[in-house]
Amino acid sequence: MKVARLARMAAMARNKLLCSSHLASMHISTPTSRQISMKTEGLTARLNSAGLLRTQGLIGGKWTDAYDGKTIQVLNPATGEVVADVPCMGGKETNDAISSAHDAFYSWSNLTCTERSKHLRTWYNLLISHKEELGQLITLEQGKPLKEAIGEVNYGASFIEFFAEEAKRVYGDIIPATLGDRRLLVLKQPVGVVGAITPWNFPLAMITRKVGPALACGCTVVIKPSELTPLTALAAAELALQAGIPPGVLNVVMGNAPDIGNALLASSQVRKITFTGSTAVGKKLMEGAAGTVKRVSLELGGNAPCIIFDDADLDVAVKGSLAAKFRNSGQTCVCANRLIVQEGIYDKFAEAFSKAVQNLQVGDGFSEGVVQGPLINESAVQKVESFVQDAISKGAKVLLGGKRHSLGMTFYEPTVIGDVKSEMILSREEVFGPVAPLMRFKTEEEAISIANNTNAGLAAYIFTNNIQRSWRVTEALEYGLVGVNEGLISTEVAPFGGVKQSGIGREGSKYGMDEYLELKYVCLGDMNRK
Ligand code: ADP
Repeated sequence: MKVARLARMAAMARNKLLCSSHLASMHISTPTSRQISMKTEGLTARLNSAGLLRTQGLIGGKWTDAYDGKTIQVLNPATGEVVADVPCMGGKETNDAISSAHDAFYSWSNLTCTERSKHLRTWYNLLISHKEELGQLITLEQGKPLKEAIGEVNYGASFIEFFAEEAKRVYGDIIPATLGDRRLLVLKQPVGVVGAITPWNFPLAMITRKVGPALACGCTVVIKPSELTPLTALAAAELALQAGIPPGVLNVVMGNAPDIGNALLASSQVRKITFTGSTAVGKKLMEGAAGTVKRVSLELGGNAPCIIFDDADLDVAVKGSLAAKFRNSGQTCVCANRLIVQEGIYDKFAEAFSKAVQNLQVGDGFSEGVVQGPLINESAVQKVESFVQDAISKGAKVLLGGKRHSLGMTFYEPTVIGDVKSEMILSREEVFGPVAPLMRFKTEEEAISIANNTNAGLAAYIFTNNIQRSWRVTEALEYGLVGVNEGLISTEVAPFGGVKQSGIGREGSKYGMDEYLELKYVCLGDMNRK
């Protein structure tokens, strides 16, 4: 039993190795070794019969293996079992995907807005009608509880629905001319082929938030999903084909991330890179994009403060900060990373919050009642452990949890750590796990200063019943998103994105369209001639 568990852990560690760009040859197998583990066999068989278990890349509308036949394993993080093998692609496949997207661009961008809108709407309908299966796929490869996974499908699909509508609203401008014989116009046109690189924490929504507006504007796309969670991306691509989105408009490659990234960066046909992931990789992509002066949109790491003032409603603050911290087991870039609590409410809050955290049921995302799944892999758990150890060694107090869960694998106990100080790593870097660090403050100015003392600037939360304070603090926070008395704020209709080193650009909402449009100024001269 123990040996089997160790073997699964080793497999998971290998998977992370590959995806952090050290291509581990031991992890690459040939298609003949494709296997579906016994435990997940029933589920994968059902997904397969629905046509949603795709295990090849998609290039120019054709399901494709890696040209050298190599594959990588996709694992279930709750059990370590192999779910499927997918192609380990690289530069050659990526270049072909770029050519396909380039070939498809002319006809796709020349469809009327109504035609593109209809395709997107059909895709949305298919995503929603398959939400159970897509949710199962997300739980299988990513680990989040099934209910939360189906929630992600609804959220992810909402971007396709929203941008199906926005496709019809790409309005240009007419500018009053400064010379009488001229007419000045602004046209909005699609930027061209887009390279979209996405992470594992939202296997569907991070793709649709990019692809929805790109396709609505008339762009074509090469998607590179995370190698840890490619199956959801492939199922979504299958549904896009079923929706009648033409071959080449949407391509999916996966495998050797740096090789694929470099091919996207080097190509002058790719006019835009849109990326969600770590700040380190985002910086590399931004640097690489300079070679061909591509546009970039980056959604990078956060270090979200959640400020709880003495005048907050305790129940609202506990409920909101719990949701902001423990969604997806703490594995989102908008998860509260520091709970900054005013001294008058600190003890009461710490007690009520810890009690609420204690009730969070941990387990396999397919089990009834579970609200906290596993972390994505072994190195994620090791990171959490090292942050917690660092805090304890510097005087922080474990109020709840603080260690791996008795379930083993990559399960970690929902944890609350009190008396966290600014010199501890927990307060400086994103823990990306189910650990809530509590920090104390005395004055509003001190809270703002602690909150802004970071290079990140994605999401922030404040809990207060004082309306003037809520405005004052919101305006002072150097963040792209602020939740006031609310911990779950993402929606397709509002702009999502960060300031400082959390990124560039906005996704979702009407502003999300601008990322995929170029402005063309047109000057009509000699307009007085009869
Ligand atoms: P995380 O640590 O959360 O997995 P990453 O930034 O490593 O975040 O990964 C986000 C996405 O970026 C994944 O699809 C990953 O494969 C991809 N990626 C990682 N390194 C590179 C790279 N050098 N070039 C292009 N994509 C990369």
